[in-house]
Amino acid sequence: MKHIDEIDYCPTNMAEVVLLGIAQDGGRPQAGCSKPCCIGLSPSDYSYPTSLGITEKDRLHIIDVTRHLSSQLQLLENRIPSDVWLTHAHFGHVDGLGLFGRETMNANGVNLHASSKMMRLIEQTPQWSIMLEQGVFTPIEITDKQPVTNTEFTMTPLLVPHRDELSDMHAFVLRGENHSILYLPDHDTWDETLAMHDADNIRQWFKNLAIDIALIDGTFWSSDELQSRSQDKVPHPPIKQTLEMLGYKQKGDPEVIFFHLNHTNPVYDEWSEEHTQVVEMGWKIGKQGMKFEL
Ligand SMILES: [Zn+2]
Ligand SMILES: [Zn+2]
Ligand SMILES: [Zn+2]
Repeated sequence: MKHIDEIDYCPTNMAEVVLLGIAQDGGRPQAGCSKPCCIGLSPSDYSYPTSLGITEKDRLHIIDVTRHLSSQLQLLENRIPSDVWLTHAHFGHVDGLGLFGRETMNANGVNLHASSKMMRLIEQTPQWSIMLEQGVFTPIEITDKQPVTNTEFTMTPLLVPHRDELSDMHAFVLRGENHSILYLPDHDTWDETLAMHDADNIRQWFKNLAIDIALIDGTFWSSDELQSRSQDKVPHPPIKQTLEMLGYKQKGDPEVIFFHLNHTNPVYDEWSEEHTQVVEMGWKIGKQGMKFEL
């Protein structure tokens, strides 16, 4: 698997993918955090909440829209996306929706792909429903495991268990002519996710999905990080546990990239023991601006 910046020539019928953010919903630095993780960071250390941009010949897709959309779109020539795909309703994943309205982009007819539960929430939220009425968005409902065909790739939503007080949560599998990518920023536990997808372990699930790259939930390094927040309130499988379950990278494994990193996560520091351990085991930590081909 080569990153697109390593290849000299890219045929035009290949969708290009850019990782637009690697932080958990709160971003880095996180508002109100006066601990060393967020004090004195230089702008080059800032991270936006997770989002993925996909460019094909005639369309620009974006998965998750964050409040930093204007900065993130700089990585995509600042074009207005033709298609927005929502994973779930948590704050970092949807707060950029308002930027499509009259105050900012004044967009028209942007395809808004979301589950029926998420769409109900949009219709019931006055600030969002008004944008449906004004034609900013054209709502298109997604269904678990039903691939949607775009020009140069398909997008398959996958239902995964994640705190669902507002909406359900869908990961996405992007399948192009040559490569496939899993986008899984949030889920509660591996046990529940694997059970829902009839897989005994992570490696088997990835194999069943036939993916080359897995962008997966790396919110916390370990459960110790949650000191003030109780883990049952903010459940995510810690990277440490994922590493124990996966072990070292084996032949035939997809490239696993951890992202959706909480501001407290030590893997932000490339020189930390934790970051080194991930790399030594053959896996990666996401970097803003990383590019892939489909
Ligand atoms: Zn999130
Ligand atoms: Zn912090
Ligand atoms: Zn979430």
